[in-house]
Amino acid sequence: MATEKKDYDKPVPLIEKWSQPFWDSIKTHRPLIRKCKNGHVNFPYTALCGRCGSHEHQWVPLSGKGTIFSFAIYYQLWHSGWKDDVPYNAVLVELDEGIQVPGDVVGIKNEEIDVGMRVEMTFDDVTPEVTIWHFQPLEPLQFAAHPLGRRYRYEDRPKPRDSAVSATMRGR
Ligand SMILES: [Zn+2]
Repeated sequence: MATEKKDYDKPVPLIEKWSQPFWDSIKTHRPLIRKCKNGHVNFPYTALCGRCGSHEHQWVPLSGKGTIFSFAIYYQLWHSGWKDDVPYNAVLVELDEGIQVPGDVVGIKNEEIDVGMRVEMTFDDVTPEVTIWHFQPLEPLQFAAHPLGRRYRYEDRPKPRDSAVSATMRGR
């Protein structure tokens, strides 16, 4: 059961007319997604479908499951709300419904995050008005092919000693 966080000091979403049903569904921990009459999944939300211009749509259940498309580990504090979290991660997840949503991964170390990792939404009632989501890895761990066919593993990232900048700084 989520508990209210009295001192939640990270930014909260700006909830607008078009996205209100989505955020309401997040609050119930049963996410919904908007589909236009031609079956296009709409996200982010605007008055008309971004692909066909239809204004006829319905809200349907969202699986909440997806694949990590990209991620970053932040060692720099950009907002005081994360002062106790550095280094923290940010991910872009391609949901099974075909939309990409931002978030963060909880429940594993930053070093274990990888492109292609299968994850699911988990919900966090951060204020009485707003619930946000995080992602957690599916159990057992599963990996899917990257939507662009590329894979980049965290442990393969360029090391500082390999970079042109550090070579220059050493006078090579
Ligand atoms: Zn459409």
